[in-house]
Amino acid sequence: MSAPLSPAIRRVHEEALARNAGEPEFHQALSEVLESIVPVLERHPEFVEAGILDRLVEPERQIMFRVPWHDDEGAVRVNRGFRVQFNSALGPYKGGLRFHPSVNLGIVKFLGFEQIFKNALTGQGIGGAKGGSDFDPHGKSDTEVMRFAQSFMSELYRHLGEHTDVPAGDIGVGAREIGFLFGQYRRLTNRHESGMFTGKGIQWGGAEVRTEATGYGTVFFAEEMLAVRGDSVDGKRAVVSGSGNVAIYAIEKLQQLGATPVTASDSGGYVVDEAGIDLELLKQLKEVDRARISSYAERRSSARYVTGGSVWDVAAELALPCATQNELNADDARTLLKNGLQLVAEGANMPCTPEAVEMFQAADVLFAPGKAANAGGVATSALEMSQNASRQRWDFDSSEDKLREIMRGVHTSAFDAAELYGHPGDYVVGANAAGFKRVADAMLAQGV
Ligand code: GLU
Repeated sequence: MSAPLSPAIRRVHEEALARNAGEPEFHQALSEVLESIVPVLERHPEFVEAGILDRLVEPERQIMFRVPWHDDEGAVRVNRGFRVQFNSALGPYKGGLRFHPSVNLGIVKFLGFEQIFKNALTGQGIGGAKGGSDFDPHGKSDTEVMRFAQSFMSELYRHLGEHTDVPAGDIGVGAREIGFLFGQYRRLTNRHESGMFTGKGIQWGGAEVRTEATGYGTVFFAEEMLAVRGDSVDGKRAVVSGSGNVAIYAIEKLQQLGATPVTASDSGGYVVDEAGIDLELLKQLKEVDRARISSYAERRSSARYVTGGSVWDVAAELALPCATQNELNADDARTLLKNGLQLVAEGANMPCTPEAVEMFQAADVLFAPGKAANAGGVATSALEMSQNASRQRWDFDSSEDKLREIMRGVHTSAFDAAELYGHPGDYVVGANAAGFKRVADAMLAQGV
């Protein structure tokens, strides 16, 4: 995958690493993207001359703020809020909010940077951004989550708007959090501005299939990759990590298409269910009860709960990491490869370490990077924005058809770009090159 960097790119890379010291995830994303776009820059020296790279690696705006709130005991708690508005050349800033104790500026920057290329790849008019907080919604009461969300939005609202910046959910930000955040924006601005947030409830401006879109889209992308080899997911066994929105709906679509997903996980451990994951039970536990994944095994005799080790110890032909960044390393890759792996599709953002990716590609395993495979979520967000702008509501089936069409388009763009730039079958190069080209063209046209 990696290509030698020219002196011009190396300078940008080194300056960006130095300027963003102590941000390993952002460094990882920067290196991956800059290495993969070498062949694009060789053909388009005008991008380098116009300083596109220097501009691209520096966010247009970074917002960091204090979020004070009262817990149920009446004590004052303080978290940190972030929004990194990375690039708006293609449209309003767009990207999720993540509420998780691991969130810091470097993580938000890595996610925002990735989001630029992912969003470009969808073919929609959306720029790249990301935000969030180190607040942990787990174990908090609904009223604590509401007070936190209201305080968070009391600062962030001034930077948002349907033509400015449109957040959505991500880890720790689901229907409940989005409701509270949107409610506070509406109260502060006296505007029911549907298009300023995506992932809203279906009854108040949300779109059909948005909840399912990231997981479904990841499986659609896997289907497209397999189709190139005359194959499909039908009849294959799959390991899926995570048990949030992405994992649940990846599991659902895998089952609908005839595959057998056998795992799900959370930060405490994972379950293996040789009979195939019971989706209704998983949804009940995770979406309704907000329970740990361990309780799945307590309710299913065909399942066992494993702490220690990793979900990647379970043999399967398909691996879908749908939890979080760097959750699948070189050791995991080695184990998976030994156990008959054929395909990896990243439902999460950057879940595989660079070493693991190299091993998959060297072994000729189909590998889909998150910015291509999980683009269905944000693409469906763009469909939600379209529906909000035109005051329309599309039904589930036509929305799913649109998602499928978009994922087909994302696959074609990445596949074709990989060929065009001399790395056939390399979806990392293909996705980065195609996404970058679209953003770079727009930046060039719009001037410094
Ligand atoms: N958080 C999702 C992602 O990583 C969705 C973003 C959105 O819909 O704006 O792409």
